[in-house]
Amino acid sequence: MDLDIDTVRVARTRADCVLRPGEAFLGGGTYLYSEPVPEGVTGLVDLTGMGWEPWSVDGAGLRVAGTCTLEQLVSGPGSLGADTGGPYRALGLVAPCVSALTLSSKVARSATVGGNLALGLPAGSMAGLFASLDAVAVIWTSAEGGSREVPVADLVTGAGVVDLAPGEVLREVRVPSAVLAQRTVFRRASLTSTGRTAAMVTGRTGDQGPTIIVTASVAAPLSLHARDHAAVDHWIDRLDSTDAWFEDVHGSREWRAAMTRRLAHEALDELVSA
Ligand SMILES: Cc1cc2nc3c(=O)[nH]c(=O)nc-3n(C[C@H](O)[C@H](O)[C@H](O)COP(=O)(O)OP(=O)(O)OC[C@H]3O[C@@H](n4cnc5c(N)ncnc54)[C@H](O)[C@@H]3O)c2cc1C
Repeated sequence: MDLDIDTVRVARTRADCVLRPGEAFLGGGTYLYSEPVPEGVTGLVDLTGMGWEPWSVDGAGLRVAGTCTLEQLVSGPGSLGADTGGPYRALGLVAPCVSALTLSSKVARSATVGGNLALGLPAGSMAGLFASLDAVAVIWTSAEGGSREVPVADLVTGAGVVDLAPGEVLREVRVPSAVLAQRTVFRRASLTSTGRTAAMVTGRTGDQGPTIIVTASVAAPLSLHARDHAAVDHWIDRLDSTDAWFEDVHGSREWRAAMTRRLAHEALDELVSA
């Protein structure tokens, strides 16, 4: 931990969320406290003091606060999804997506959904989870009550690049009720069994047919509507001819492309075999 900062303010009201020069938001701190302080950051504003309800579900769907910890996500919405034939079966996707992060249970107790999305790492599985659930992110743009909504599928636009302007708060993600009872699928590949996720394919049956979301092997989530292997192959072949595949020590481009193809085939087979 390298905490060379001058101030930590605990936000209690929306007005407290207005950043002063040099300040950045603090979620669970599991990234911020594990890395050198980002350039120019001299103070942190702790969003967990806002006291937001971690999650709730009603007729409109599921709402998950930016400050909901990954542990709360699994024990709440994740446990609703454990009933594979029930009205929340899409939430069966929660637990594997949290497991796809290389976090100990101690880290998962603090790490937040908002922090994971705001970081926008390719292996940040909250983007794949909520994009697959057709969620929108609600972003506070000002202290006076301004906000905007972005589909989670469009929130992360590159490796570590997120559609969040400085000072904007990721308040919550909302999953529409129509999605909650739909079937979902999860596949992941990693170079080692406990290694960082190098390719993740999640998907959902929908009114328009299966939707597949690819993350981790690409810099930003990609969506595909496909009904058969040929459509998947055509899509992957097109990606091969571009610079789309992500590469780092956790996997080469070629291997990630091959894994993504295999996982996408498996995911599609599972979704269409009702
Ligand atoms: C051992 C270990 C393993 C990890 N493995 C992974 C992994 O596999 N994949 C992965 O993606 N990450 C991983 N991480 C990084 C990190 O722990 C997670 O991404 C975590 O979800 C970040 O959440 P946080 O609340 O701790 O974020 P913080 O560290 O508090 O903040 C991270 C960033 O998000 C911003 N932020 C936080 N909340 C909000 C909000 N509501 N609105 C706007 N901005 C906000 C902060 O300003 C900061 O820039 C790992 C970390 C550790 C220590």
